[in-house]
Amino acid sequence: MEKIVITIDGWSSCGKSTLAKQLAKELGYVYIDSGAMYRSITLYFLRYHIDWTNKAAVAKALKNIVLEFHHNEKTGESEIFLNGENVEYLIRDLVIAEKVSDIATIKEVRGFAVTEQQKMGKKKGIVMDGRDIGTTVFPDAALKIFMTADIAVRVERRFKEMFEKNPNITIEEVKNNLEMRDYIDSNREVSPLRKAADAIVLDNTHISMEQQLKFALNLLNY
Ligand code: C5P
Repeated sequence: MEKIVITIDGWSSCGKSTLAKQLAKELGYVYIDSGAMYRSITLYFLRYHIDWTNKAAVAKALKNIVLEFHHNEKTGESEIFLNGENVEYLIRDLVIAEKVSDIATIKEVRGFAVTEQQKMGKKKGIVMDGRDIGTTVFPDAALKIFMTADIAVRVERRFKEMFEKNPNITIEEVKNNLEMRDYIDSNREVSPLRKAADAIVLDNTHISMEQQLKFALNLLNY
């Protein structure tokens, strides 16, 4: 079968990465987590105290950032490297989640990330998840999915995930963070979170992981 680009966009914590990984595995495609790129840029800005309200400082910082994904043979997962350092674990922290959406509103940051993402998709055979993948990064993608799920279910799922790493985290913190990110992501000026006109909606509130994979494979007649 000819390789295509598959985009998966949607609200925070509605299972985009789970479906993207399932599809990439099933089809032998590369999975790219575009959110990990914005999270890594955020980590860099926080570490080096970059004043992100200053355009010149942002432009200079972006010139010093190299982002790469490498396949981890042991886990079978793709992991992000920031200037040669594996930051896959660090970027999942709430400290990053609290700042990432603000940083992702910056035009220059988005320009940098989108250019890298488009390079990664040149050879096709890719599943990329995010917020603007079907609208801005790959507007001509052959399959676009827009995912959604009830907020209570999304909070519960993300809380379980974060609690494993940090037992001090509360469900309110997780809920506030998801709602704040969804608000900023869908109201920003540059590439706000939107369903592309030709994207197919998948609400996974009440369906299993197997059912969501089947739904997506059906769309491909696979
Ligand atoms: O996907 P994830 O929840 O890890 O993304 C973290 C944040 O990165 C999002 O809340 C959003 O602010 C930003 N993001 C974005 N565009 C993307 C992917 C993520 O603005 N394509």
